[in-house]
Amino acid sequence: ALKAGIVGLPNVGKSTLFNAITQAGAEAANYPFCTIDPNVGVVEVPDERLVKLTELVQPKKVVPTAFEFVDIAGLVRGASKGEGLGNKFLAHIREVDAIVHVVRCFEDENVTHVDGKVNPLSDIETINLELILADLESIEKRIDRARKNLKGGEKKIVQEVELLERIKEALYKDKPARSLELSEEEQLIVRDLHLLTLKPVLYAANVGEDEVADADNNPFVQQVREFAASENAEVVPISAKMEAEIAELEGEDKAMFLEELGLQESGLNRLIKVAYKQLGLYTYFTAGVQEVRAWTIHRGTKAPGAAGVIHTDFERGFIRAEVVAYADLLAAGSMNGAKERGQLRLEGKEYLVQDGDVMHFRFNV
Ligand code: GDP
Repeated sequence: ALKAGIVGLPNVGKSTLFNAITQAGAEAANYPFCTIDPNVGVVEVPDERLVKLTELVQPKKVVPTAFEFVDIAGLVRGASKGEGLGNKFLAHIREVDAIVHVVRCFEDENVTHVDGKVNPLSDIETINLELILADLESIEKRIDRARKNLKGGEKKIVQEVELLERIKEALYKDKPARSLELSEEEQLIVRDLHLLTLKPVLYAANVGEDEVADADNNPFVQQVREFAASENAEVVPISAKMEAEIAELEGEDKAMFLEELGLQESGLNRLIKVAYKQLGLYTYFTAGVQEVRAWTIHRGTKAPGAAGVIHTDFERGFIRAEVVAYADLLAAGSMNGAKERGQLRLEGKEYLVQDGDVMHFRFNV
């Protein structure tokens, strides 16, 4: 499953948010590919389409797709120099697909701020600096190594060094690698470096409970938004404390509580959705009477790869896929209806799976 790591300075609300996630979360036991670990919370990805498909197909079982949040507490100033448990935490960040950076935007005299006052931009800078320093170390090592191979003047290595130098320059200017908007080819060149500042970042702006409905009027949130725009990051205002309360409610109670707050959905749901989108993820569905289920793939996955998410045998023995777009299926009202309208397609190995495809795979065992 895909993982987002929760980071942030001490006392900004990370544990509170993480507890809300675990409380609201799904049983990892239902998702055999998810980690069972106290620092990992498994959540289901909310998807309206799954609800509609369930109404249409009336299956025995419904399985949403899942997402993991990892609590990476303990990142402090000096981590890249080994302060605190510094390097260990940086290593954990290397393993995640995205970073959820919690920043404190709430005022509360009873909650001490490590630097004495609420200042989200300075907090962000502190954490980002540690990530930038860690990346500089990786980049410099790599440049040294590549330079040694440079004598042959091989075009590929020249290109690599150029790219590394470009990233290094950005890092020296306190800019994360993701601010460079690297091409897919460039991303591939540096992939095995697992750069921390290349990972997608989502700032969870933790506001006070009384501010959630109108969070964008909070000047701290505005500052964070402005900053995030400059480095290709997203912002989700959230009240960690409120999320912890929401997570304890279910069904109708939850809906009523959210309505009273003037919210369409919980901040946690928004957080999951934004993270999912930011990671370039698509959802496809399988829809049978036994089970309607959502599956996660990366944008650009071909049909056999999508089949492989269900089972490696499906990928190995892939013959073809029957595909209908979610919107077409819904409009037609049934699989047969879609077939009559000519909207049920047969697709082969080269088919690029689209977000919302409803698929059935044919394969050899
Ligand atoms: P962490 O060190 O980042 O994990 O921070 P915690 O989640 O432990 O939170 C630190 C303190 O801030 C706790 O006392 C929380 O109750 C409090 N806190 C977290 N979120 C909010 C919030 O939205 N409003 C207020 N007033 N307090 C909060």
